[in-house]
Amino acid sequence: MNSYNWVPIKTNIFCWRAEKERIASRVALCFRGVNLPSTLCPMCGNYEESAEHLLVSCSTALMVWSYIATWCKIHPFFAFSIKDLLEMHNSSNVPELMIGLIPTIEHFIVKF
Ligand SMILES: [Zn+2]
Repeated sequence: MNSYNWVPIKTNIFCWRAEKERIASRVALCFRGVNLPSTLCPMCGNYEESAEHLLVSCSTALMVWSYIATWCKIHPFFAFSIKDLLEMHNSSNVPELMIGLIPTIEHFIVKF
């Protein structure tokens, strides 16, 4: 994973942890022995809540990324993995600025 000097260190750490499935998703918590009633995503209820689902494929995440694309006046973009999300600015019209928004997105989705 690339490190970006222009974002706060905690953003780089969050992105690294998300790519390694080390953020506190329900799947990760269950893997660490935390007893949860369900590992399903509380927002869509259709898939297990992994870091990748939370940031990339959940319908709520897709909606948030769509709003951000509209706000930034760029075409909607789709990622298939967190790695895709982190490297998207290399091959599309998505500005590198999006890297700095990833933890914000996670924070928004978790509070949603
Ligand atoms: Zn979901």
